[in-house]
Order: sequence, then structure tokens, then C-alpha cells
Amino acid sequence: MKGTVEGRGFSTRAIHAGQAPEPTTGAVAVPIFQTSTYVHEALGESKGFDYARTTNPTRTALEQNMASLEGGVRGHAFASGMAAITVLLTLVRSDERVLFSANVYGGTYRLMSKVLDRYRIGCDWVDTSDLDRVEAALTEKTRLVFVETPTNPTMEIADIAAISELAHRRGAKVAVDNTFMSPYFQNPLALGADIVVHSTTKFVNGHSDSIGGVLVSSSEEDAEWFAFVQKSAGGILSPFDSFLTLRGIKTLAVRMERHESNARAIAALLAAHPKVHSVLYPGLPASPGHEIQQRQARGFGGMIAFEVGSYERAKSLLDRVEVFSLAESLGGVESLISHPASMTHASVPPARQQELGIGPGLVRLSVGIEDLDDLVGDLEAALG
Ligand SMILES: *Cc1c(COP(=O)(O)O)cnc(C)c1O
Repeated sequence: MKGTVEGRGFSTRAIHAGQAPEPTTGAVAVPIFQTSTYVHEALGESKGFDYARTTNPTRTALEQNMASLEGGVRGHAFASGMAAITVLLTLVRSDERVLFSANVYGGTYRLMSKVLDRYRIGCDWVDTSDLDRVEAALTEKTRLVFVETPTNPTMEIADIAAISELAHRRGAKVAVDNTFMSPYFQNPLALGADIVVHSTTKFVNGHSDSIGGVLVSSSEEDAEWFAFVQKSAGGILSPFDSFLTLRGIKTLAVRMERHESNARAIAALLAAHPKVHSVLYPGLPASPGHEIQQRQARGFGGMIAFEVGSYERAKSLLDRVEVFSLAESLGGVESLISHPASMTHASVPPARQQELGIGPGLVRLSVGIEDLDDLVGDLEAALG
């Protein structure tokens, strides 16, 4: 396409932002610039590229693309979602505090509680679906509020705009882990957050063939810091993974539509099923965060958790499904089923699992984009 993509629709930006035809050949797909360094024409005359830890054109294309999709000033791509979160946390100095959604991704919890606990950074684990608790936990020392919404696997919803207002009043920044929604359904920066985090491993890449992470910032100041840490610490996304992720993003809109229409139908089926005790899906009108989700997002996504009552029943279901694959992770085109208590959340102590609502009978689905009839038939037969 010719001209700027700014102001165009989501899919047009997903396909074109950061991806002008390559100048030497006109290649439509951004090439994989598999190089570590760049020749300078003369001393003091580079083409703006010096060394590929600092900048690589394939990675830059992805970073510009994600910045456009999230409505931020710049993006920075890292070797994993956790690498991105680690860089985000360098905004915080010792003796400052971070307020986290109590139920954040297990890797985020482990990073804070077992690695960064060496650096005198205070942590407050708060149910961010409860604004009173957020307000009560904010202190002068709180530098960052890290919100995940919906949370994994219990699908609690946090009000991003209200939390941003509370945090900003106290001088804290707000970062939102937007992995579950993808930029297609939710744009935290437009709601007042300062930074968006993605594990691109999940819906953004969407094909279960790459690990990556991105930060998108709303301010030049944060963007500059992230660029500086990116080149200093070096946890960059490779050119090949940048290429795969750009390729995945081109179909993000159509994939998310299908993830969601399949998930809605499956959530309704489970909610009416006699062997299912409860269903956690923000798209169900009775679900606690439904209204906030409707206000702040354009959809409900493809993740569902449900309770079957006991470990034995969960195990029998997980062992019997055929189309759903028993695996951790989420957000790929293929449907996955997992048992949070013994898989994704195994490192969380049982008492804390109980507090978080992760019982032995809880099952999580990442609903893929296969034919709905096959997914429904598979679950009905396995529950049967
Ligand atoms: C997977 C995930 C991460 C971590 O990303 P990796 O790419 O696996 O390092 C962070 N947050 C959420 C919500 C995730 O699902």
C-alpha cells in the first residue's frame, strides 16, 4: 500500500504498519535481516544501523507494527514475554513498590518473588478487580501498578481506566499485561495505562511456533528507557521470530473473531451442561466482570475456565478429549486444554491456589479456530 497507515482500520494496520515494501527489491514481506552488523560507508556515516542488538530492520518492523496496533509511541520486542516484563520492571528502583494483580501469570509471580526479591523492591499482591483494595494498597512508594486483565485462569476483570486514575493520582505508572485480549480486543493505553505488555507467544503470533514479548509505551521517556535497557541487557527478539510474529499478526483480526465466536458457543454449552459446576468466561452475562469488560474491550476472547468438581473428573475429561490437546500455553490456532492446579499453577502453594480459586476440579480451555462442531462434539463426548 502507498502512503501512511495512521488512521486506517485495525486489519489494515496489522497488515501494513511498519511494513513498507523493502526499498532494494520491493519485497512485500519484510525480509529476515539475518545479520549481526552493518557496514559503514565512511567513518561517521552509517545508514542508521550499527549493531543488530541495538536495531534490526525485521525487529523494528514488528516494533512499529505493535506500536500502531496498541496506539503507543514505540514498541520494543524481546526474546520472551518474561524478558519484556523483566525490562518493564527496571522502571522500579530499590525501596520502591510494585502493586500487582494478585492472580498474575505464574512466571511474573516467580520473577518477582524468587528473582527480583534480591533487590529490595516491595510487592503488593492485590485483587485488582476490587478498586477499594487497589486504592488502599497504593502508597507514596508505589512506582508501578501491574495489572493483568482478564486474569489467568479465573478470568477476573480489572477496570483499567479507574485503576489508571487512582495510580496517576499517587504518581505511579500503570502497565497492563494484554496477552489474553490481544490489541484486537483491548487497547489499555487508550484507557489511560502507560505501558502495554504482550507475550507475543500467545494470540499475537498465534501459531504456537515462536516465543516473544513486546512492550509498547505511551511516552517517549519510557520508550527511550526501554530502548536503552534493550541494548544494554540484550534480551532481544531474533530476526526470524520477528518475521514469524509479523506474519502471525496479519491474520490477528480474523483469528480473534473466530477464537471468540467458538469460545462464546462453548461457554454457553458448558454453562448449561449438568456435569459442569461453574464457568468462568467474561462473555457470560452473569460473570462478575462482564460489564466492565463490555465497556473497556471490544470482545471477550478465547479463554475459558470451568469447574467439574474434583481432580478425578478433571483427569477423566483431560484424558478423553481428542481434538483439544492437553498442553500448557494458549492463544494458538489449535485448541488446548489444561489443568491449572497441576500444570500452569503447580508452583503456587496449595493454600494460595485455594485463595485464588484454582481448585483441583478447575479446567482451562484455550479455544482454537477449528470447526466449532468438532470442538463441541469433543467436549460433549469427553464430559459424557
Ligand atoms: C505466557 C504469558 C506470559 C509470559 O510470556 P512468555 O512468552 O512465555 O515468556 C506473560 N503473561 C501472560 C498473561 C502470559 O500468558
